[in-house]
Amino acid sequence: MEEVCVRCNKKVTVHTIQKFETSDVLGDELIGTTNQVLICDECGNEIAYEPYDRQTLQKVYDIYKLLHGLPVTTTMQEVKELKSKNKLTKVYER
Ligand SMILES: [Zn+2]
Repeated sequence: MEEVCVRCNKKVTVHTIQKFETSDVLGDELIGTTNQVLICDECGNEIAYEPYDRQTLQKVYDIYKLLHGLPVTTTMQEVKELKSKNKLTKVYER
């Protein structure tokens, strides 16, 4: 597989690694997930890759839903709306 590496400034062959990252996409708390990340074979730079980014976001939301006792069917949009209305309470704090 080939992608453009911004550091090498050209198309390079890439490989995928698993990387543990924390994300605060939902603002008030950090959520850790093990994500797939695309790496440049030549310089080791991380390359933004939309399908992996989408996977990561989905995982973060899934964990967020678990932590807040939301049904797994809750969409990302619904989570955002609930959050903006401050209706979420952390399950582990009850
Ligand atoms: Zn590179």
